[in-house]
Amino acid sequence: MKIEAARTAETDELSIPVNDTLQDRTILVTGAGDGIGKAAALTYARSGATVILLGRTQQKLEAVYDVIARENLPEAVIHPLDLAIAGTDDYDLLGRSVQEQFPALDGLLHNASELGALGPIQYYAPEAWMKIMQINVNAAFLLTRALLPAMLPSPDARILFTSSSVGRKGRAYWGAYAVSKFATEGLMQVLADELTETSNIRVNSINPGATRTEMRRAAYPAENPLTLPTAASLMPAYLHLMQPDSQLLHGQAIDIRSLLTELQPE
Ligand code: NDP
Repeated sequence: MKIEAARTAETDELSIPVNDTLQDRTILVTGAGDGIGKAAALTYARSGATVILLGRTQQKLEAVYDVIARENLPEAVIHPLDLAIAGTDDYDLLGRSVQEQFPALDGLLHNASELGALGPIQYYAPEAWMKIMQINVNAAFLLTRALLPAMLPSPDARILFTSSSVGRKGRAYWGAYAVSKFATEGLMQVLADELTETSNIRVNSINPGATRTEMRRAAYPAENPLTLPTAASLMPAYLHLMQPDSQLLHGQAIDIRSLLTELQPE
């Protein structure tokens, strides 16, 4: 319980100076109720953006909404959606509703993922495999497809996919999760190439690296979470990648440690 309390407090803490670099921008974050997604949603709101909080557990989204309201930041929008079961119509409805409510969608952070079971491919349950691919890859495709019409009017929209080190080099027993992250990198590259000449949208993927969240705890139950970086500590990179001045980054598989080092003040 103590570790949980510490983790939550560190996610909420303000690790970067408040600024207005995302003023008047609208950004949708998936998996915004917990972990890295929660920290990113708070960071974007604290930088002036209106955030659309998409996630599975309404209560968690409401807790993030409440923090944003308490700090008098631009009012957030809650959009509960279980990516494991959402159908094409759900995504299309969301796309239309974003178009109706906002002049444009300026940012999309694909962050929600499930780890699923770890184990050898030979014994990986097919239903479990399909579920992980649905949440981690197919949902990102469906959401991107539905939201692109709302993003095209933005002068400099950003799409950020979330990868993992096991999505850049395969590792035994990481099963569908690792394969889904390779597919995520593929989706990022194809989309980035398509949009290079036809839009102002910049598309990248980020590997956050080992971070003190529930997912990491599930993957490494014996590890002391206090030895890991908090989600809040990653936020300068997540913020940079949503800002208009990151326009030179496009189609890149970004490693967060290198980017954080680059962004450190001299
Ligand atoms: P968490 O497990 O802490 O958070 C994941 C978020 O995704 C939660 O808000 C969760 O919602 C949401 N989510 C999961 N399944 C669904 C679903 N079916 N529908 C809607 N939302 C869903 O993970 P992290 O913050 O650690 O991970 C964030 C991203 O970073 C992931 O893409 C992960 O793969 C990646 N990553 C994380 C690393 C780490 O060490 N933490 C390392 C490398 C990559 P709910 O809380 O309601 O279940």
